[in-house]
Amino acid sequence: MLAMLKSFGESLRSAFRKIANAPFIDRDLIKEVTRDIQRALISGDVNVKLVLEVSKQIEKRSLEEKPLPGMSNREHVLKILHEELARILGTGRELAVKKQTIMMVGLYGQGKTTTCGKLAKYFQKKGMKVALIAADVHRPAAYNQLKQIAEGINVPVYGGGKKAEKVVDEGLKKFSKYDIIIIDTAGRHALEDDLIKEMKKLAKISRPAEKILVVDASVGQQAGTQAKAFNDAIGITGVILTKMDGTAKGGGALSAVAETGAPILCIGTGERMDDLEKFDATRFLSRLLGMGDLQTLIEKAEEAAKGKEKSIEKTAQKMLSGKFTLLDMYEQMELLTKMGPFQKIADLLPFGGRLKDEDCLLYTSDAAHEG
Ligand code: GDP
Ligand code: MG
Repeated sequence: MLAMLKSFGESLRSAFRKIANAPFIDRDLIKEVTRDIQRALISGDVNVKLVLEVSKQIEKRSLEEKPLPGMSNREHVLKILHEELARILGTGRELAVKKQTIMMVGLYGQGKTTTCGKLAKYFQKKGMKVALIAADVHRPAAYNQLKQIAEGINVPVYGGGKKAEKVVDEGLKKFSKYDIIIIDTAGRHALEDDLIKEMKKLAKISRPAEKILVVDASVGQQAGTQAKAFNDAIGITGVILTKMDGTAKGGGALSAVAETGAPILCIGTGERMDDLEKFDATRFLSRLLGMGDLQTLIEKAEEAAKGKEKSIEKTAQKMLSGKFTLLDMYEQMELLTKMGPFQKIADLLPFGGRLKDEDCLLYTSDAAHEG
């Protein structure tokens, strides 16, 4: 997945790889990698000011902070890169699984109608009774599109009227016994007065718990501008970024939305009804970089480091007081193996899993050439 994001991911990945493969980590390498990351972020349409901020932070922390006990210099720098990048991509918020009305807003063609279907399916899978209302009355095709989507996932839909308020009012009555009602609304090419008026009216009638802005991620940083404008106009509760599978600007879109303070609820990663994912910066980044779960490795290393510190202290005291027993020795051995079998740790390492996929391909094709 995330095919086009690959170019953004690929340049970030090569920066991470430089750290992982370097014989040793020094000031020059850190400076070089910081520049690589700057370039990658800018090509991903991340705001230049933010890029400078984050790269400065990466360089400063890498040079000044001491690695945690039990962590190598290399792991330390990878951890900082990861933390700083995850920070600018923002935090997600999970949609509550409870009885509620959800109103979808956004400009034309951003993916509102498709995302209505995706969300309906998501809640349906959680065991909720879901219904859809087609309140985009301006384009005749809009109702049919939602109807088709609804049929595909077995969810009832109400629509077809000429006046959006009437459709919403009637739909809410019809589906009053349902847990989740999702209202699809019309978009425009820009945020115009009549769109704002219509959204306000519909929100007044339906009193939605969530007003979700749907934005196509390929607008990059502009996603932040849209989030701010819609928030000022009607007050949004969160953002869903769509078409993350088709753009290299996803990083820019995520970071710009994060800057507005609007939580990212989900990301759309394809045209199918299942192509909706919860957003978690750490996991997103790990996958974007094509790495194993770096976060898990970091937690594991931190935990082991904590345990080791305490135990070494205890052992030292015992040795000094002449009370070091066979049992203590056993504990020390145990600690050494605490991190688990090597392969398991290697899988968690960013480059541990590498041999399994593309590098294996590289090797096989090389071998084929030689053979
Ligand atoms: P609306 O005008 O905001 O309601 O947008 P639509 O839901 O009609 O979507 C516009 C186009 O974008 C359609 O062709 C969708 O299939 C496509 N689309 C929506 N979400 C995604 C996504 O996450 N990935 C991809 N690749 N296409 C999407
Ligand atoms: Mg639509």
